[in-house]
Amino acid sequence: MQRRDLFRRAAALSLVRQARAAQLSAYEATARRIIDAALADEGGWNKLAYFCDRIGPRLSGSRGLERAIEWAAAEMRREGLENVVTPAVKVPVWVRGAESAWMVEPREASLAMLGLGGSVGTPPEGITAQAVCVESFQELEKLGAEAVRGRVVVYNQPWRGYRETVAYRSQGASRAARFGARAVLVRSVTPASLRTPHTGSLNYSADAPKIPAAAISIEDAMMLCRLCKAGVRVAVKLQMSARTLDDAASANVIGEIAGREHPEEIVVMGGHLDSWDVGQGAQDDASGCAAAWQAVQLVKSLGLRPRRTLRVCLWTNEENGLRGGRAYREWAGDAARRHVAAIEMDGGAEKLRGFGLSIPGASGAALDHAMARMQAIAALMQPLGPVETVRGGGGADISPLMREGVPGIGHLTTGRRYFEWHHTDADTLDKIDRREFQEHIAALAVLGYVLADMPERLAEEAHPTGGMA
Ligand SMILES: [Zn+2]
Repeated sequence: MQRRDLFRRAAALSLVRQARAAQLSAYEATARRIIDAALADEGGWNKLAYFCDRIGPRLSGSRGLERAIEWAAAEMRREGLENVVTPAVKVPVWVRGAESAWMVEPREASLAMLGLGGSVGTPPEGITAQAVCVESFQELEKLGAEAVRGRVVVYNQPWRGYRETVAYRSQGASRAARFGARAVLVRSVTPASLRTPHTGSLNYSADAPKIPAAAISIEDAMMLCRLCKAGVRVAVKLQMSARTLDDAASANVIGEIAGREHPEEIVVMGGHLDSWDVGQGAQDDASGCAAAWQAVQLVKSLGLRPRRTLRVCLWTNEENGLRGGRAYREWAGDAARRHVAAIEMDGGAEKLRGFGLSIPGASGAALDHAMARMQAIAALMQPLGPVETVRGGGGADISPLMREGVPGIGHLTTGRRYFEWHHTDADTLDKIDRREFQEHIAALAVLGYVLADMPERLAEEAHPTGGMA
């Protein structure tokens, strides 16, 4: 592009931005009302506390998840949300059972462990074998079958951020099994540890035998590797009675405020109701569920009825199947394409940072317009402090909608300690700050309400007149 054209485009864009900002400034008073109400609100925290303390962990197929679904749907109806439904979803059922891991040579020591979700169990007597330690897949490949066959592979990979490091949890078992390993122990996927093991899903490849896999704490992984590196013979014993049962009945929980002008156009927001079977699934993801639900409830209780439908969905089975997200898209049918935006909060409830937006298949100009609208909405949240809007967003549960071209918005936090608690016994209510949690409710309520009410849709090309519809 020529320099002059670039200037023209920038000038045109800034005009659009101003037009958008001017238009949305009409929402200032309403946004203020929503924020004030959210910061004084107790209902969201009470929901969060109910999920954590009274229901507890909510693994797919568990009684805990069933209770969460029943309770949430009943409460939504009692509070007066409209069209409350619980469309059925079949979910996988993995049961941890009894489990333990030990170092048996050079001395006997219990290892802090959690079996990985989806893992097969060991024979009842367990697997006892010499350990071989590696810090990367490359190191494993270099060792090859000769050094790995018949052994337990210990992965002691350093933390390089979640996306990169989680590969050891998800692929570690199959990659070691190809070389004949009998089991794997994977250093927990976390930047810091107080000897806390972190569970999570693994994926078995079709071309490798299924071998048992467990997470161990950073401390234990480092110890085993120090010993191996020192040339000491290290042996471990792993016992797991984990098993996968037949799929079970589950459901998404959906409630809404029907739109006053375009009820067929939908803004959906939510989190995932299932969790791992340890801790309380407080940050992951009771916080996202309770915040999105209360945001919609708050809009309702303020007597606001947006132009379009504002919906909350508590998705089931995000952690070990993503069946809830897929089922929602199926359930929506043709209405999937009439979603104006899908918002997911699944990064915990630390201090609000802002929102990330992706619009699959959108042109650069369309994304520019949508980003300008997002910035104008974020400006309405000014009483909450600076709220960023960034390119690139989404979430696991909304990804099936996004594949239909629906704009996906990820709710962002500072995420300073999220991965220290993620999928552990330590993911409990006390890790969530009440005020920061209320700020999430405020931000989601403003975002959801304005997206559902503003004259133009988020991803709509700007009209030349730019006026109120
Ligand atoms: Zn999650």
